[in-house]
Amino acid sequence: MVASQTVADELDPDRLGHFDAIIIGAGVAGMYQLYRLRELGMRVRVLEAGSDVGGTWYWCRYPGARFDSESWSYGYSFSEELLQEWSWPEHFAAQPDTLRYLNYVADKFDFRRDIQFNSRVVAAHFDDAASRWTVTVESGEHVSAPMMITALGPLSAFTLPNIPGRDSYRGPAFHTARWPHEPVNFKGKRVGIIGTGATAIQTIQTIAKDVEHLTVFQRTPNWAAPLHNSKITDEEQKKIKASFPEIYERCRQTVACFIHNPDPRKTLDVSPQEREAFWEKLYSEPGFGIWIGNFKDMMTDEKANALATEFATKKIRQRVKDPKVADLLTPKNHGFGTRRLPLESGYYEAYNQDNVLLVDINKTPIERITPEGIKTSDQEYAFDLMIYATGFDGVTGPYDRIDIRGSGGRCLKDEWVDMPRTLLGMQTEGYPNMFMILGPHTARGNIPRNIEEVVEWQTGLIKYMREHGLTRVEPRSEAVDDWVTVVNEASAGLLSSKIGSWQTGVNRNVEGRNVPRVLGYNGGAVRYRGKIEKEAAEGYPDFRFG
Ligand code: NAP
Repeated sequence: MVASQTVADELDPDRLGHFDAIIIGAGVAGMYQLYRLRELGMRVRVLEAGSDVGGTWYWCRYPGARFDSESWSYGYSFSEELLQEWSWPEHFAAQPDTLRYLNYVADKFDFRRDIQFNSRVVAAHFDDAASRWTVTVESGEHVSAPMMITALGPLSAFTLPNIPGRDSYRGPAFHTARWPHEPVNFKGKRVGIIGTGATAIQTIQTIAKDVEHLTVFQRTPNWAAPLHNSKITDEEQKKIKASFPEIYERCRQTVACFIHNPDPRKTLDVSPQEREAFWEKLYSEPGFGIWIGNFKDMMTDEKANALATEFATKKIRQRVKDPKVADLLTPKNHGFGTRRLPLESGYYEAYNQDNVLLVDINKTPIERITPEGIKTSDQEYAFDLMIYATGFDGVTGPYDRIDIRGSGGRCLKDEWVDMPRTLLGMQTEGYPNMFMILGPHTARGNIPRNIEEVVEWQTGLIKYMREHGLTRVEPRSEAVDDWVTVVNEASAGLLSSKIGSWQTGVNRNVEGRNVPRVLGYNGGAVRYRGKIEKEAAEGYPDFRFG
């Protein structure tokens, strides 16, 4: 069935009101929630802004997009059949493979029949008397159900820079989160890119080989370390497929659900030689080891972090030939690992190419975007194509972009303006029957692992309600206060809490988002799991039912 037919059929007024639940988003989270609610025999409608499944992997199809986490630790774990059928081609899969995987899952479990595509949600209002959510999409059409699950993704509200003249540029210009579906030809093109976050790093290292000339406009350099990706051999594939129980058990035991976990030693417990050898080893190994598998005090102790920062600085100097460029690429305002560490494959070496230029826009600020390209304080640059790798209004941004009204018409965006208030990152008081997947204040790390955990827990709660004839749930106010305290305390000693990044909700393109906020539970996945399991085992004492 084509998407438009689905929309028309399901928005037939005769059918309105027959859904048991509405899920917003058909990415990794929305699809899994659909699977679990179907198991309960519920009639579910998923509303998705895109024209197909995949969420972040549907939208972020920019050149070079790929996992920074091991493919075989990223896929869904709920179906042994799926685990055995699907073969990841590389240890860190490229976006086309991940999207192919999510399409494969959608086909296998026939998800599309419950998904309404091209339906961006703009409003969700709770009707107290009827105890129902009415969810409105951009076209003005709406659906309603007693329960609403937000599977919005923490990184879906992309942001463009507020630079004068932005719309005057005459050539093609793309944000990386709205990349065209057709191939973009870079051959012989002069390209300008704004941003040097994880997305820009992947884009730059990939297109630098093809473009005639690339100009990178950098405001804040980020630390980055090698990904060391490789193909999965037949031998490895067999081993991986035989080891899923161990792989997932490992992910359950680690602090962020990746296969990596902090080294139990402190940085100064070992000699300088031993330290150096350890860091060299981590730097030469695939994945997040250098970030998550580092000494356990790297993220909490200034001195320890300064030593790791020194090591990472040395690495940049070794790889970038021009010392001035190396210096420019070295972050000065945050220590190593205090922002989410991008992994790269030849990023630094791209700056050794004659056709790549790094522009420090702190020294020569961008004054405006012109019909030809970019004008900085000292020069005009002409481009055939421009790329905005300017990131996202993280975590709360996707919620702010929907007019969410709870009991008595209260407005979520207003209530969360300074700091979100949630219980376990799953629900918020005054918004009955609104279930969040990876909302603010959940444990976040290896995203599908976190998603599966939250979805299974929320499904358990919904099942409990159905079994006990309960129709309404929301968290107790005092339990929300307690959780906010726990969340704040868990972030208090972390060096990253003071640093502006999407993880702390800082985005200078969004008004009022200049100050770091605590948007995740940083006490570790194991502790988080302990808390949610206890809550369920005790019959959900922190929730009020109706
Ligand atoms: P980001 O890390 O927030 O980076 C955005 C970049 O744009 C920053 O360098 C920022 O500079 C710059 N920027 C924004 N507005 C600007 C302006 N007005 N003028 C000049 N520069 C501006 O966003 P991202 O790179 O898209 O990455 C976000 C997250 O997505 C990552 O941390 C990661 O969690 C995820 N991601 C994952 C993968 C993967 O798994 N492999 C790949 C890509 C992204 P400032 O720092 O100065 O604001």
